[in-house]
Amino acid sequence: MNKIGIYIHVPFCNGKCNYCDFVSGVYSDEIKAEYFDKLSAEINDFDFSDYMIDSVYFGGGTPSSVSAEKIADILDLLHKKSAFVDDPEITVECNPESLSSEKCAVYKSSGVNRLSIGLQTATDSLLRKIGRLHLVQDFITVLDQAEKYFDNISADLMLGIPEQTPVDVKRAVNLLAGRNLKHISAYSLKVEEGTPLAASGFTPDEDYSADLYEIVSQMLFDYGYKRYEVSNFAFGGYECRHNLRYWKRGEYKGFGLAAHSFVKNERLANTADFTEYFSGTRQVFSQYIDPKGKDAADETLMLALRTSNGLDLKEYKSSFGIDLIEEKAEQIELLKDFVEISNGRLRLKDSGFYVMNDIIVRLTV
Ligand code: SF4
Repeated sequence: MNKIGIYIHVPFCNGKCNYCDFVSGVYSDEIKAEYFDKLSAEINDFDFSDYMIDSVYFGGGTPSSVSAEKIADILDLLHKKSAFVDDPEITVECNPESLSSEKCAVYKSSGVNRLSIGLQTATDSLLRKIGRLHLVQDFITVLDQAEKYFDNISADLMLGIPEQTPVDVKRAVNLLAGRNLKHISAYSLKVEEGTPLAASGFTPDEDYSADLYEIVSQMLFDYGYKRYEVSNFAFGGYECRHNLRYWKRGEYKGFGLAAHSFVKNERLANTADFTEYFSGTRQVFSQYIDPKGKDAADETLMLALRTSNGLDLKEYKSSFGIDLIEEKAEQIELLKDFVEISNGRLRLKDSGFYVMNDIIVRLTV
């Protein structure tokens, strides 16, 4: 049986951050109840017979903004529908304003073994600036509670917030790494069109965000973390298995509004429209990807280069018939300050992670 990762989209938040255009928002309890009914129906209709569940990831939105029993019910249903591996990774994304000891207890007893908590910044004025609902102390309080139940906790940091200084970034890293969190993600702020932050005229300075990223990376290395993907750092053995599946082009099935899937060589996407989803429309996009074709080759290269392990050149050649060293010899030579080949793998050097997108464009065959 093949292993599969399951993504569950929970499109509910307690407020809307001013930079965010994710499929998420503040909705009534009635809408939440109806959503979970439809979500369960969608899970019930999926044929799991070829699969064993290896990871489950509740993302959003803010999964901790709904009752923990709803998360437990979905896990129960998945157990009824499918076999699981012996040690599945089961993650719930949380925000400080909606996490509690009681929720942690229910998560734990339902099989959740990993939390990902959105801190974003350890400076209260910056949290306010981007419309977050929590303050730094709220994060510390829920972290104290969560650590009584979970060993595997991740937190998110955001880089490039208006008026964020290197001192702010260092404070946030010291808070998280000082607590020995097993996993830390650091993302650049993207200001999406139509959001209040975009309307304010703010545009992130990519060079400045890259400088902040360099500070974060160096500090995390000094604390003993390893970068295993461009935005993700962990202590050994605590890399996020679910996300690694995306970067290795493993199969995953997403359920819920706007959820994406990659199953049996097809990329699928669900509707992002509540009304459509409630009236029974789920999938609105599908594309077959020839496993030996150019799209699969490009995806493999692009995803592998995001990771510190890089691309296995021999496997790439045998899968796609492309000898990258031969076909891209000139580009690889030009990029030698940013990429390296060792032990049969092409990977980014530290300097390459800051300019990853340009490198990928140049190496895509
Ligand atoms: S909590 Fe996350 S999903 Fe919800 S509005 Fe803020 S950034 Fe968007």
